[in-house]
Amino acid sequence: MICCLNDAEEAEIAVINDYWLLADDESNGFLYTLKQIKDRYKSENVRSVGYLVQKSIFLASHPAFTCHNCNRKIPDKNRTEYTRRVKRKDATTCIECLEIKQQHLYDETFRTLKEYKARVFQSEPYLNKLTIKETLGLLSISAEQIENSQFLGGSLEEITITGIQSIDQKIL
Ligand SMILES: [Zn+2]
Repeated sequence: MICCLNDAEEAEIAVINDYWLLADDESNGFLYTLKQIKDRYKSENVRSVGYLVQKSIFLASHPAFTCHNCNRKIPDKNRTEYTRRVKRKDATTCIECLEIKQQHLYDETFRTLKEYKARVFQSEPYLNKLTIKETLGLLSISAEQIENSQFLGGSLEEITITGIQSIDQKIL
């Protein structure tokens, strides 16, 4: 099926038809060369073959131009693309189906990563198991990471450390 631009003259529609005519069903060659088409319509005052082909839509009947997933027809741009696509052995997929497939892959990847993070980075109630030295060390490291922080207070009066592990641990 060919869809031509609105203002195409009858002779221009014939040009596009001739452009897409295949030599026979078996071969992927085209019936007329570009030169033959140009010569034939020389006197008809038609616009260039390239322009007319670019401005029209050709839906080829060859299975290489049907999406194997949704059966949607994929328009063909020109003879070069036609030949290239017909020679390909892999199944044809339309842009819409490719985008959906890509999105599924992204979603699947994010879900896997989220599950992995939830499993591996589970928080552990480890604070109760720390010794007084480890607690002070952790506090010191945490304090260093905050800009302008003052470790355990700004002056001597603010620091309340008794040296008795059970009391200091509660304060910390
Ligand atoms: Zn599709």
